[in-house]
Amino acid sequence: MKKPFSGISVPLPTTPPVKRRYSITQDIVPFRRCARQYGTFNVHKYAPAYQTQTYFGTTLHQVLDRCHSHFHGIIDPATKGLLPDNGKILGDQDILDYFDELRIAEKLSTAPPTPPSDIVKYFVEVENGLKSRGIRAIKSDNRLQVVRILQYFNALEGPVLYPRVIDTEHRLQADRTNHILHGVVDLLVDPTTSAGVPEDYEMWDYKGSTRVGLNPKDLENYEFQMRVYAKLYELKHGVLPRRAILYFLNELDGPTCPSKQPVNALIEVSILPTEIDNAVIEFAKTVMQIEQARVTGNWQSAIPGDISEKDCAICDLRWDCNTPNGGKGVKLRYP
Ligand code: SF4
Repeated sequence: MKKPFSGISVPLPTTPPVKRRYSITQDIVPFRRCARQYGTFNVHKYAPAYQTQTYFGTTLHQVLDRCHSHFHGIIDPATKGLLPDNGKILGDQDILDYFDELRIAEKLSTAPPTPPSDIVKYFVEVENGLKSRGIRAIKSDNRLQVVRILQYFNALEGPVLYPRVIDTEHRLQADRTNHILHGVVDLLVDPTTSAGVPEDYEMWDYKGSTRVGLNPKDLENYEFQMRVYAKLYELKHGVLPRRAILYFLNELDGPTCPSKQPVNALIEVSILPTEIDNAVIEFAKTVMQIEQARVTGNWQSAIPGDISEKDCAICDLRWDCNTPNGGKGVKLRYP
Protein backbone atom coordinates (compact mmCIF):
# COMPACT_ATOMS: atom_id res chain seq x y z
CA MET A 1 0.00 0.00 0.00
CA LYS A 2 1.31 3.45 -0.91
CA LYS A 3 2.31 5.52 2.09
CA PRO A 4 0.25 8.77 2.21
CA PHE A 5 3.27 11.09 2.42
CA SER A 6 5.70 9.26 0.18
CA GLY A 7 7.29 11.47 -2.43
CA ILE A 8 6.58 14.63 -0.46
CA SER A 9 9.59 16.50 0.73
CA VAL A 10 9.23 19.41 3.12
CA PRO A 11 12.36 21.54 3.42
CA LEU A 12 13.56 22.36 6.93
CA PRO A 13 12.73 25.90 7.95
CA THR A 14 15.75 28.16 7.63
CA THR A 15 16.36 30.07 10.83
CA PRO A 16 18.07 33.37 10.20
CA PRO A 17 21.43 33.49 12.00
CA VAL A 18 21.21 35.29 15.35
CA LYS A 19 23.22 38.47 15.40
CA ARG A 20 24.45 38.86 18.95
CA ARG A 21 25.16 42.24 20.42
CA TYR A 22 28.70 42.47 21.79
CA SER A 23 29.63 45.20 24.22
CA ILE A 24 33.27 46.16 24.48
CA THR A 25 33.27 46.53 28.27
CA GLN A 26 30.69 43.83 29.13
CA ASP A 27 31.81 41.10 26.72
CA ILE A 28 35.01 41.63 24.79
CA VAL A 29 37.29 43.00 27.52
CA PRO A 30 36.07 40.52 30.23
CA PHE A 31 36.50 37.58 27.80
CA ARG A 32 40.00 38.73 26.91
CA ARG A 33 40.81 39.10 30.62
CA CYS A 34 39.59 35.62 31.58
CA ALA A 35 37.37 33.50 29.31
CA ARG A 36 36.44 31.14 32.14
CA GLN A 37 35.20 33.89 34.41
CA TYR A 38 33.30 35.48 31.50
CA GLY A 39 31.70 32.16 30.48
CA THR A 40 30.62 31.38 34.04
CA PHE A 41 29.14 34.71 35.07
CA ASN A 42 28.25 36.49 31.80
CA VAL A 43 27.17 33.60 29.58
CA HIS A 44 25.91 30.95 32.04
CA LYS A 45 24.74 33.71 34.42
CA TYR A 46 25.91 32.15 37.69
CA ALA A 47 25.58 34.76 40.41
CA PRO A 48 28.93 35.80 41.87
CA ALA A 49 29.12 35.93 45.68
CA TYR A 50 30.55 39.44 45.62
CA GLN A 51 30.62 42.02 42.90
CA THR A 52 33.30 44.35 44.18
CA GLN A 53 34.39 45.56 40.75
CA THR A 54 30.81 46.17 39.63
CA TYR A 55 30.10 48.03 42.90
CA PHE A 56 33.15 50.24 42.51
CA GLY A 57 32.79 50.90 38.79
CA THR A 58 29.05 51.57 38.89
CA THR A 59 29.05 53.90 41.90
CA LEU A 60 31.94 55.96 40.51
CA HIS A 61 30.50 56.18 37.00
CA GLN A 62 26.90 56.86 37.98
CA VAL A 63 27.66 59.46 40.66
CA LEU A 64 29.99 61.31 38.28
CA ASP A 65 27.24 61.18 35.68
CA ARG A 66 24.92 62.86 38.22
CA CYS A 67 27.63 65.47 38.95
CA HIS A 68 27.73 66.38 35.25
CA SER A 69 23.92 66.54 35.15
CA HIS A 70 24.00 68.72 38.29
CA PHE A 71 26.42 71.19 36.67
CA HIS A 72 24.42 71.31 33.44
CA GLY A 73 21.15 71.80 35.35
CA ILE A 74 19.60 68.58 33.99
CA ILE A 75 18.46 67.31 37.41
CA ASP A 76 17.41 70.75 38.66
CA PRO A 77 17.73 73.89 36.48
CA ALA A 78 18.63 75.87 39.65
CA THR A 79 22.01 74.06 39.84
CA LYS A 80 23.06 75.01 36.28
CA GLY A 81 26.65 76.22 36.30
CA LEU A 82 27.20 75.13 39.90
CA LEU A 83 29.61 72.50 41.11
CA PRO A 84 28.03 69.89 43.43
CA ASP A 85 28.72 71.03 47.02
CA ASN A 86 30.56 74.02 45.47
CA GLY A 87 33.56 71.70 45.46
CA LYS A 88 33.61 71.37 49.25
CA ILE A 89 34.92 68.16 50.81
CA LEU A 90 33.51 66.41 53.87
CA GLY A 91 35.90 64.77 56.30
CA ASP A 92 35.92 60.95 56.62
CA GLN A 93 34.33 61.09 60.08
CA ASP A 94 31.36 63.18 58.83
CA ILE A 95 30.75 60.66 56.08
CA LEU A 96 31.02 57.70 58.46
CA ASP A 97 28.67 59.40 60.95
CA TYR A 98 26.09 59.84 58.19
CA PHE A 99 26.41 56.19 57.14
CA ASP A 100 25.80 55.21 60.79
CA GLU A 101 22.69 57.40 61.04
CA LEU A 102 21.43 55.94 57.77
CA ARG A 103 22.00 52.37 58.96
CA ILE A 104 20.10 53.03 62.21
CA ALA A 105 17.21 54.66 60.30
CA GLU A 106 17.02 51.65 57.97
CA LYS A 107 17.03 49.28 60.94
CA LEU A 108 14.26 51.19 62.71
CA SER A 109 12.37 51.79 59.44
CA THR A 110 12.33 55.53 60.13
CA ALA A 111 12.84 58.34 57.60
CA PRO A 112 16.41 58.48 56.29
CA PRO A 113 18.47 61.43 57.55
CA THR A 114 19.16 64.28 55.12
CA PRO A 115 22.44 63.65 53.27
CA PRO A 116 25.18 66.07 54.33
CA SER A 117 26.25 66.86 50.74
CA ASP A 118 25.22 66.53 47.08
CA ILE A 119 27.88 63.88 46.43
CA VAL A 120 26.73 61.76 49.40
CA LYS A 121 23.10 62.16 48.24
CA TYR A 122 23.96 60.96 44.70
CA PHE A 123 26.10 58.17 46.12
CA VAL A 124 23.26 56.86 48.33
CA GLU A 125 20.81 57.00 45.38
CA VAL A 126 23.17 54.95 43.21
CA GLU A 127 23.95 52.56 46.05
CA ASN A 128 20.23 51.93 46.67
CA GLY A 129 19.83 51.04 43.00
CA LEU A 130 22.68 48.56 43.29
CA LYS A 131 21.30 47.08 46.53
CA SER A 132 18.05 46.31 44.72
CA ARG A 133 20.17 44.21 42.33
CA GLY A 134 21.92 42.46 45.24
CA ILE A 135 25.20 44.35 44.75
CA ARG A 136 26.71 45.74 47.95
CA ALA A 137 30.02 47.00 49.24
CA ILE A 138 31.89 44.26 51.06
CA LYS A 139 33.37 46.60 53.69
CA SER A 140 32.37 50.05 54.93
CA ASP A 141 35.90 51.13 53.89
CA ASN A 142 34.88 50.59 50.27
CA ARG A 143 31.98 53.04 50.66
CA LEU A 144 34.15 55.66 52.28
CA GLN A 145 36.82 55.29 49.62
CA VAL A 146 34.29 55.76 46.80
CA VAL A 147 32.85 58.94 48.37
CA ARG A 148 36.33 60.30 49.05
CA ILE A 149 37.45 59.75 45.44
CA LEU A 150 34.25 61.32 44.12
CA GLN A 151 34.67 64.39 46.29
CA TYR A 152 38.30 64.81 45.23
CA PHE A 153 37.45 64.44 41.54
CA ASN A 154 34.62 66.94 41.87
CA ALA A 155 36.81 69.50 43.63
CA LEU A 156 39.94 69.01 41.53
CA GLU A 157 38.69 68.31 38.00
CA GLY A 158 35.11 69.61 38.14
CA PRO A 159 35.78 73.36 37.73
CA VAL A 160 37.67 72.86 34.45
CA LEU A 161 36.14 69.63 33.17
CA TYR A 162 32.38 70.00 33.76
CA PRO A 163 31.94 73.14 31.59
CA ARG A 164 33.64 71.35 28.70
CA VAL A 165 31.53 68.20 28.76
CA ILE A 166 29.47 67.87 25.57
CA ASP A 167 27.87 64.51 26.33
CA THR A 168 27.99 61.74 28.91
CA GLU A 169 27.29 58.03 28.33
CA HIS A 170 27.75 58.63 24.60
CA ARG A 171 26.38 55.55 22.83
CA LEU A 172 28.13 54.11 19.79
CA GLN A 173 27.15 51.10 17.71
CA ALA A 174 28.01 49.37 14.43
CA ASP A 175 26.25 46.57 12.58
CA ARG A 176 28.88 44.07 11.41
CA THR A 177 28.27 41.01 9.20
CA ASN A 178 27.69 38.54 12.04
CA HIS A 179 27.40 40.67 15.17
CA ILE A 180 26.50 44.09 16.50
CA LEU A 181 29.33 45.98 18.11
CA HIS A 182 28.46 48.43 20.79
CA GLY A 183 30.09 50.72 23.35
CA VAL A 184 29.39 53.61 25.66
CA VAL A 185 31.94 56.40 26.04
CA ASP A 186 31.85 57.99 29.50
CA LEU A 187 32.45 61.56 28.34
CA LEU A 188 32.77 63.61 25.21
CA VAL A 189 34.79 66.68 26.08
CA ASP A 190 35.32 69.81 24.01
CA PRO A 191 38.73 71.13 25.10
CA THR A 192 38.20 74.37 23.17
CA THR A 193 34.97 75.37 25.03
CA SER A 194 33.83 76.90 21.72
CA ALA A 195 30.83 75.50 19.87
CA GLY A 196 33.08 72.72 18.67
CA VAL A 197 32.78 70.13 15.99
CA PRO A 198 33.22 66.35 16.43
CA GLU A 199 36.84 66.38 15.24
CA ASP A 200 37.68 68.66 18.21
CA TYR A 201 36.19 66.38 20.84
CA GLU A 202 38.02 64.10 23.24
CA MET A 203 36.70 60.72 24.41
CA TRP A 204 37.21 60.14 28.14
CA ASP A 205 36.82 56.85 29.95
CA TYR A 206 36.88 56.55 33.74
CA LYS A 207 38.63 53.57 35.29
CA GLY A 208 37.89 52.59 38.90
CA SER A 209 41.47 51.48 39.53
CA THR A 210 44.98 52.85 39.88
CA ARG A 211 47.35 53.22 36.96
CA VAL A 212 50.29 52.27 39.18
CA GLY A 213 50.59 48.50 39.43
CA LEU A 214 48.16 47.90 36.56
CA ASN A 215 48.77 44.57 34.86
CA PRO A 216 50.22 45.24 31.34
CA LYS A 217 47.49 43.03 29.83
CA ASP A 218 44.82 45.21 31.45
CA LEU A 219 46.41 48.35 30.04
CA GLU A 220 46.58 46.65 26.63
CA ASN A 221 42.85 45.85 26.91
CA TYR A 222 41.98 49.42 27.91
CA GLU A 223 43.93 50.79 24.93
CA PHE A 224 42.22 48.28 22.69
CA GLN A 225 38.85 49.42 24.08
CA MET A 226 39.59 53.09 23.29
CA ARG A 227 40.71 52.26 19.75
CA VAL A 228 37.49 50.35 19.07
CA TYR A 229 35.56 53.33 20.48
CA ALA A 230 37.52 55.58 18.12
CA LYS A 231 36.39 53.45 15.16
CA LEU A 232 32.77 53.54 16.31
CA TYR A 233 33.07 57.30 16.80
CA GLU A 234 34.35 57.65 13.26
CA LEU A 235 31.45 55.58 11.92
CA LYS A 236 28.97 57.79 13.77
CA HIS A 237 30.51 61.23 13.24
CA GLY A 238 32.54 60.78 10.04
CA VAL A 239 35.77 61.87 11.77
CA LEU A 240 38.07 60.53 14.47
CA PRO A 241 38.05 62.18 17.90
CA ARG A 242 40.99 64.46 18.67
CA ARG A 243 42.17 62.46 21.68
CA ALA A 244 41.30 59.34 23.69
CA ILE A 245 41.85 59.67 27.44
CA LEU A 246 41.82 57.14 30.27
CA TYR A 247 41.30 58.57 33.76
CA PHE A 248 42.37 56.30 36.64
CA LEU A 249 40.16 57.57 39.46
CA ASN A 250 41.84 55.64 42.29
CA GLU A 251 45.01 57.64 41.72
CA LEU A 252 43.20 60.46 43.54
CA ASP A 253 42.71 58.47 46.75
CA GLY A 254 44.55 59.48 49.91
CA PRO A 255 44.04 61.25 53.23
CA THR A 256 43.62 64.67 51.55
CA CYS A 257 42.51 65.95 48.15
CA PRO A 258 45.48 66.29 45.76
CA SER A 259 46.28 69.94 44.96
CA LYS A 260 46.99 69.07 41.34
CA GLN A 261 46.22 66.21 39.01
CA PRO A 262 48.31 63.15 40.02
CA VAL A 263 50.83 62.32 37.28
CA ASN A 264 49.45 58.83 36.81
CA ALA A 265 45.75 59.74 36.82
CA LEU A 266 45.40 60.49 33.14
CA ILE A 267 46.90 58.80 30.12
CA GLU A 268 46.33 59.49 26.47
CA VAL A 269 45.83 56.46 24.24
CA SER A 270 47.35 56.68 20.79
CA ILE A 271 44.66 56.33 18.10
CA LEU A 272 46.59 56.09 14.85
CA PRO A 273 44.50 54.67 11.96
CA THR A 274 46.66 51.51 11.78
CA GLU A 275 46.21 50.91 15.53
CA ILE A 276 42.46 51.36 15.16
CA ASP A 277 42.33 48.92 12.22
CA ASN A 278 44.25 46.32 14.25
CA ALA A 279 41.88 46.78 17.20
CA VAL A 280 38.87 46.23 14.94
CA ILE A 281 40.44 43.02 13.56
CA GLU A 282 41.15 41.89 17.15
CA PHE A 283 37.55 42.64 18.10
CA ALA A 284 36.20 40.42 15.27
CA LYS A 285 38.66 37.68 16.27
CA THR A 286 37.51 37.84 19.90
CA VAL A 287 33.86 37.61 18.82
CA MET A 288 34.72 34.44 16.87
CA GLN A 289 36.49 32.98 19.92
CA ILE A 290 33.45 33.70 22.11
CA GLU A 291 31.11 32.12 19.55
CA GLN A 292 33.38 29.07 19.40
CA ALA A 293 33.51 28.77 23.20
CA ARG A 294 29.71 28.93 23.28
CA VAL A 295 29.57 25.93 20.92
CA THR A 296 32.31 23.84 22.57
CA GLY A 297 31.65 24.94 26.18
CA ASN A 298 35.40 25.36 26.57
CA TRP A 299 36.08 28.53 28.55
CA GLN A 300 39.79 28.75 29.39
CA SER A 301 41.18 30.35 32.54
CA ALA A 302 43.60 33.22 32.02
CA ILE A 303 47.28 32.36 31.73
CA PRO A 304 49.20 33.11 34.99
CA GLY A 305 50.70 36.59 34.76
CA ASP A 306 48.19 37.73 32.12
CA ILE A 307 45.66 38.63 34.80
CA SER A 308 46.22 40.64 37.94
CA GLU A 309 46.37 38.72 41.23
CA LYS A 310 43.81 41.24 42.56
CA ASP A 311 41.25 40.10 39.96
CA CYS A 312 41.81 36.43 40.84
CA ALA A 313 41.67 37.16 44.60
CA ILE A 314 38.02 38.23 44.30
CA CYS A 315 36.95 35.56 41.79
CA ASP A 316 34.66 32.82 43.13
CA LEU A 317 36.36 30.29 40.86
CA ARG A 318 39.79 30.77 42.45
CA TRP A 319 39.42 27.66 44.66
CA ASP A 320 39.31 25.51 41.57
CA CYS A 321 41.75 27.35 39.34
CA ASN A 322 45.50 26.97 38.83
CA THR A 323 46.10 30.55 37.70
CA PRO A 324 46.24 32.61 40.94
CA ASN A 325 49.47 33.03 42.90
CA GLY A 326 51.64 32.90 39.80
CA GLY A 327 50.18 29.56 38.66
CA LYS A 328 50.29 27.80 42.06
CA GLY A 329 46.56 28.16 42.75
CA VAL A 330 44.92 29.01 46.07
CA LYS A 331 45.55 26.95 49.20
CA LEU A 332 42.24 25.46 50.36
CA ARG A 333 41.10 26.40 53.86
CA TYR A 334 40.03 22.86 54.64
CA PRO A 335 40.27 20.07 55.76
S1 SF4 B 1 40.74 32.73 39.48
FE1 SF4 B 1 41.51 34.16 37.92
S2 SF4 B 1 42.12 32.91 36.17
FE2 SF4 B 1 40.86 31.63 37.53
S3 SF4 B 1 38.82 31.81 36.66
FE3 SF4 B 1 38.99 33.38 38.26
S4 SF4 B 1 39.67 35.21 37.18
FE4 SF4 B 1 40.02 33.49 35.82
